[in-house]
Amino acid sequence: MPLPRKRGTALRQRLAELRGPAVPPKALDARALAALAANPGCRRRAILDGAGVNKATLASALGSPSAFGQSQFALARGNTFEARVKADGGAELLRLVHEKLDPGAVPPVKAEVPDLTAGGPEGRTARTALALRDATAAARAGAGTGGWTLLDHPMLALDVAGSPAFLEPDAVVVHPDGSWTVVEIKSFPMLDGSADPAKVGAAARQAAVYVLALEEVAARLVQGGDPAPVVRHRVLLVCPKDFSNLAAASAVDVRKQRAVTGRQLSRLTRIEDIADTLPEGTCFAPDLPAGDLTAAVESVPAEYAPECLSACELAFHCRDRSRARGAVTSLGRSVRAELGALTTVDDVLSAAHGRSGDPQDPTVAALRRAAALRAEALRGTELASPKPELEPGLEAELEPGGAVCR
Ligand code: SF4
Repeated sequence: MPLPRKRGTALRQRLAELRGPAVPPKALDARALAALAANPGCRRRAILDGAGVNKATLASALGSPSAFGQSQFALARGNTFEARVKADGGAELLRLVHEKLDPGAVPPVKAEVPDLTAGGPEGRTARTALALRDATAAARAGAGTGGWTLLDHPMLALDVAGSPAFLEPDAVVVHPDGSWTVVEIKSFPMLDGSADPAKVGAAARQAAVYVLALEEVAARLVQGGDPAPVVRHRVLLVCPKDFSNLAAASAVDVRKQRAVTGRQLSRLTRIEDIADTLPEGTCFAPDLPAGDLTAAVESVPAEYAPECLSACELAFHCRDRSRARGAVTSLGRSVRAELGALTTVDDVLSAAHGRSGDPQDPTVAALRRAAALRAEALRGTELASPKPELEPGLEAELEPGGAVCR
């Protein structure tokens, strides 16, 4: 649901202040959205992404540069492959869509490729919606015997935690029956018809975000008694065939990814609510002194988990802080879930050694049993082997209950 205009303007102003004066917003892409949805409890990431803060630049300014991102070489190779696949009015691309997703439709001879140029992301989003509406109406008027339409780099908007995110799929195809298909073009190879499952999974999550955004457009296009256009849940993944420049394609069912991502995005805390909790004057501009920047980042609660290492540019910074606090989430979400209300390593050790916690609590009881078993095992080890000579001072650290993990 879009915000009323006045509130929307106030929020945009607030987010611009958070980003810093004259810092242009970094657009959220579908890859970032899919990652955002993978950690819906992290308010830090939600507000930084919502405000369009460049997290890679921020991580460097904090002294913990991120370690992932696509190399310039891979980007250039991907762009060249995409241009080749879309050459000649998208003839090869449409042939693949017809072959893999809609073999019963009339074969594409020549596709319509509407001009989507317009000023700014809002203008391009409106232009895309008009092109989709016209192509769908033309297809329906032809009762499924009409032509194909290729939208090259359309722009879609998706409401994310109360703020619009603008997304740019590689292509969207309108079929002769008026249905819509998302096309993802990737530069990783498809060998003998199959590709790296992790990369295909990431591409499917990304495509699912586009499907969600297209469904919002389709819902807005419902007019009169006409049904909403159908957004297909099987997308087309196009990759280089066996390291060549030829295209190979595969239909990927993204129903599961669409359901998970949709649910996660709807659970994101509204950006407005997070912004309201920040201290006056909070700013994430990368040219601020490191101390101020760290304080600003730390003023927003984070939910670090090891999965952040492959999904968020701030992972090294958040991991250091999480470890320094002794947060159990840094050991993984499953460990966190097992430990219930005990959120720090100190809480866990205290409960395990009987210094705190309700003995009736199943988690506390399990920890005490584990601590007793460990102590028993250590006693057995002591009896079985002579005590090693220890440096003075190290002995104290190895006393039962005072074990130190090095
Ligand atoms: S790395 Fe930090 S900011 Fe990013 S999702 Fe994880 S906890 Fe949140």
